[in-house]
Formats: sequence, structure tokens, C-alpha cells
Amino acid sequence: MQNSDAVWNIVEKKSAEFFALSDRIWDIPETNYQEYRSAEEHAQMLESQGFRVERGIAGLPTAVMGEAGEDGPVIAILGEFDALPGLSQEAGVAQERPLVDGGNGHGCGHNMLGAGSMLAAAAVKDFLAENGLKGRVRYYGCPAEEGGSSKGFMVRSGVFDDVDIAISWHPAAFAGVNNPISLACNEINFHFSGRASHASATPHLGRSALDAVELMNVGVNYMREHIPSDARIHYALIDAGGIAPNVVQANATVRYLIRSPDLPGLTPLVERVKKVAQGAALMTETTVEASTLSAVSNLVPNTPLEAAMRRHLEVLGPPPFDAADRAFASAIQATYGPEEVAHALAPFEAAGLIEGPLCEALVPAAARRASMSASTDVGDVSWVVPPVRRWGATYASGTPLHPWQMVAQGKSPAAHKGMVHAAKVMAAVAQQAFAEPELIAEAGRDFARRTAKVPYVCPLPEETQPPLDM
Ligand SMILES: [Zn+2]
Repeated sequence: MQNSDAVWNIVEKKSAEFFALSDRIWDIPETNYQEYRSAEEHAQMLESQGFRVERGIAGLPTAVMGEAGEDGPVIAILGEFDALPGLSQEAGVAQERPLVDGGNGHGCGHNMLGAGSMLAAAAVKDFLAENGLKGRVRYYGCPAEEGGSSKGFMVRSGVFDDVDIAISWHPAAFAGVNNPISLACNEINFHFSGRASHASATPHLGRSALDAVELMNVGVNYMREHIPSDARIHYALIDAGGIAPNVVQANATVRYLIRSPDLPGLTPLVERVKKVAQGAALMTETTVEASTLSAVSNLVPNTPLEAAMRRHLEVLGPPPFDAADRAFASAIQATYGPEEVAHALAPFEAAGLIEGPLCEALVPAAARRASMSASTDVGDVSWVVPPVRRWGATYASGTPLHPWQMVAQGKSPAAHKGMVHAAKVMAAVAQQAFAEPELIAEAGRDFARRTAKVPYVCPLPEETQPPLDM
């Protein structure tokens, strides 16, 4: 019998009520700091499981935390519950069919992410109590992962200061503990101000903010040749100034996302983009103001914790999918073009994996290295607490994050199986850390080594506050 069997049995026993929680959150998709009903569902579930609950932590109305146990080390398990706009979609069908036109949808699987993490925390709580062990397990329900940087604000407010290790997961098309790759990212509005005038009668009196935006974009596009190849810069025109071509536009705003493989690389890149903005303002005799909306750090790895998590994953094996799961996954996979599927599967095929519509093997650490270049606010937690994170197979192979197909699969039996599978591995890591304090000490040494040279500086400027009304 494995040491983890006892906690896995508790996870199994509790799983049905957490599938129901995940499905309820799927039913009420809420976005970016507006997750009032979802957060309350999480708070009530924590209470019913016997946690001590704090609502509105870190000054965020939709952040919630539950703690159980006494003294000893503190282990955090991180959850999320926010959805995405414009992704409303019926569940269980392999065709695009919105439930509400323009409505929200759980296109990143955060309904499962939150419920699965809380399931792990609840099992660990019962395990500590049943075995009379010292230690505290906390579930952090974190809002607004999709662009709201809530974990960065939570780190800044100190809610993780006494945590020893932080465990998390994310739904995916495969199961594995991978080398964490997630880009540090800054989201900045550049607002240019000029002088309005008639564009034909008195053009010489006008100073165009829209010209400044265009010149800034040209400048940044030239700069691209001279930035690290794994950095990313993209922009959107938030305010073009107006719709009348015969007016010199006095105001215009462009929003930039600037990403870099790590936090130390991000700051100089942001400064260079700001210089281009100032150059554009100089050329057009306008002024520019930069305001940071959100910012996240890259993920810091932790070798001892990842090795421990991988061991538990190998003991547990892949999720037990069945013929019906494969049939639905096949139908979903058929909605993608061959190019998209080939791109998504390439790293796994290179590792000799993927034989069907669901990934039913454990993915080796390096297999996904080339394909993951998004950003997450879990990165900020990983700079202040030794972290470990896994991917949980809940979707058809080849499903990228954020399309309607993810929403359609978010309540499926395969999603539930992947969620309970993820919860078991997270619970086993926590159980091991409580039983073997040396694991926490080792994780702490690895963390200290990785963050010694460049200590964490929160990428959110002090004046940037959570965009609660976004
Ligand atoms: Zn996500």
C-alpha cells in the first residue's frame, strides 16, 4: 500500500460533491473581479467542509481563503474560478452553439481548477485531522486570473507571507509535471494627448494623438528585430480618438502586452517600449502617459517539489478514460483543422506519446517546452513561495486553451476524471510534505538558490490598484 492511498481514498469519497461544485461554477461564468456568485459558492463549500473561511482577502471582494489544521507548516493549494468573455457555449456537444449570445464561458477550465484544488485541500484537511498531524492546509480562491493579476495583488498584500509551499494545477489536454514555462508580462495603456483641429481647414494647428499611436506601433515593430527571440509584444487600439477623418484626433490610446521569459528581462524591455512611446510623442508634439493595468511574473521552478509530484503521478498512472470519453474527444478533435491538431500534438509525438483522442500517458518533463508561452499570475506566487504545479488531462488532445471547444468539454465525464486525478496528486504532495518536513526544507533551499541573485520585485507599480470595475 502506498503512503498516498489513504488521502486518495478521501479524495474519491468527496469527489461527487466537488464535481457538482465545478459544474455549478461552469453554469455561472463570471469574469475579472465580478465573480461574486462563484466566490460565494467557493466560500460556502469551504464552510461546509469545515474550513475557517475569510472572504474578501487582500482587499479583493471576490478572493476567498479557507484554512484548516493547527500549527506546523502551512501548505497552500491555489484555485481559480473566473471565466472568459464571449465564450458562451453549450456543454457536451461538438459544435459551436452559444447558450447566450456574447455571454461568458469557462474557456480555460477554471471551474475545474478551483473545484479540483479545493477537493485536494479538503482531503488533506481530513487526513490531518484523522491522523492527529500538526500542520495547516489552506485553499486560496483567487479571482481574475484572466488579465486581472489578482495573485500579484495578493502577493503584494502579504497573504502568502507565512506559506511554506504552494501547490496548483491547470486543466489541459495532457497529464504531467513539466518544466514550468510561463512568460512574465506587463499590460500597459499608452495614452497620447494632442490638440484637436479641423483636418482640412486648419491642419497646421492640430497635433494628432492618433499619429503618435501609429508611429509608436511602427517604432515597436522595428524594435522587434532587436529583442530576445522568446520575448513577445502585441498591441490593441483601445481608443482611436474618434470616427471623423476631418478631425485631428486629440486623444488616442493603445494597449500593449509586453512579455519576457523572466522578470529580470521584462523590466528593460518595458523601458524600451516606453522610450519608443516618448519618441512618438516627441515627433508629433503630443504628450504620452503610460499606466500599468496588470503585470505577472514568470514561473519559478522547484526541482524537489516537481520530483515529488512526478513520483506521485507515476504511482497513480494516467486518468482512467473510457470508450465514451474517447468518442466525445474524437468528435471535438474533428472540429480542428489538421494543422492545428498537428501543432498541438507535435511535442508529445516527439516524445512517443498520443495514440488516441485523449492523452492517456504521462508526459515527460521536457515534452511541452517549445509550445508554452502564455502567462499566468501563479508566477508571482512562485517568486515568494516554493511552488509546484501540474497539468491535468481534462480535454481532447490538441485542444488549445480558450476556444469554445474547451467550454463544451468543461462538464464532461473526462473533465471530472481529470479533475479528481489532479486533486489526488496535489493532495499526495501535501500529505508527503506534512509527513516529511525535509521535503519542505529542500524545497526552501532550492527556492532560495533560484531567487538569491535577483530578488522578487513586484511588477505591479505601487500606484496600480486591482481593476475591480474592469
Ligand atoms: Zn487558465
